[in-house]
Amino acid sequence: MRLLFATGNAGKLRELARLVEGLDVRVVSPAELPAPLPEVVEDGATFAENARKKAVAQARATGLHALADDSGLCVDALGGRPGVFSARWSEAGAPGLSGLERDLANNRLLLASLDGEPPARRGAGYVAALALADPGGRVLAEVEGRCRGRIGAAPRGEGGFGYDPLFLPEAHPGRTMAELGPAEKDAISHRGEAFRLLRPILARLASGG
Ligand code: IMP
Repeated sequence: MRLLFATGNAGKLRELARLVEGLDVRVVSPAELPAPLPEVVEDGATFAENARKKAVAQARATGLHALADDSGLCVDALGGRPGVFSARWSEAGAPGLSGLERDLANNRLLLASLDGEPPARRGAGYVAALALADPGGRVLAEVEGRCRGRIGAAPRGEGGFGYDPLFLPEAHPGRTMAELGPAEKDAISHRGEAFRLLRPILARLASGG
């Protein structure tokens, strides 16, 4: 079964490729499509809304099953921000950045926003919403995963992406998410949890059920 995973985020794409291992699923990335995908405006109030919107639009545009991930970081002391704006949070101060530069700018903004806050006030959670749509744009599944942790005082580690160098997961409080190996991250991450909920549905679809 071909499964479109239309994201420009290389970190998400790497993680999804790991998570579908062992299933009879071939992940199709936007670069493999004959034509560019229509832009989907991510204006939903929730991760789930945005994921659903992306999956439906991308499935209809391509005639493929489409999986969409909308995810982000919700910081307790910031009232849940940056939340659905996680990717673009620093954009007001530094427009036009992409990829790694944007991750660095977001991480600088996160550190500045929590400047002086003690560890007890640095709680946060990652959320990942996944939506799966069939080639006609019908939503087949929606799942959500979460991962609690704390924001560290300085970035550490080279793995993962996004806010990982600052995120100390509860399951491994002495290391940042970027200091975990790929399998360690998948075992505890929001995306790993969401994907484990989706996996039986994908497995059934891939086997023609
Ligand atoms: P989206 O592409 O609109 O869903 O935005 C996702 C953004 O949330 C990413 O660009 C990261 O900033 C952040 N994010 C989501 N998942 C992770 C993760 O696993 N690690 C670190 N940052 C993440």
